[in-house]
Amino acid sequence: MATCPKCGYEWQSKATAAWITCPGCQRKFRRPPTTVTVLARNTPLSTRCAVCDRAFIFLNCCKVDDSPAFICDDCLERPV
Ligand SMILES: [Zn+2]
Ligand SMILES: [Zn+2]
Repeated sequence: MATCPKCGYEWQSKATAAWITCPGCQRKFRRPPTTVTVLARNTPLSTRCAVCDRAFIFLNCCKVDDSPAFICDDCLERPV
């Protein structure tokens, strides 16, 4: 079961790719990670959030399933 972080749409996803597309709002987002470790909060990176793809100046430096990722506050606080 996948839940869209943008519109809350829930559906049965059979895709095994790391990125899945929501049938509700057509947004692409990363499959809910099993482990998210925050390495550093509010780091000035000026890049895009790995989850919602919005541009931010400050992002949280995280490790998602052992891969480094920059994630915004909104996406980080959303329950996985
Ligand atoms: Zn959606
Ligand atoms: Zn985000």
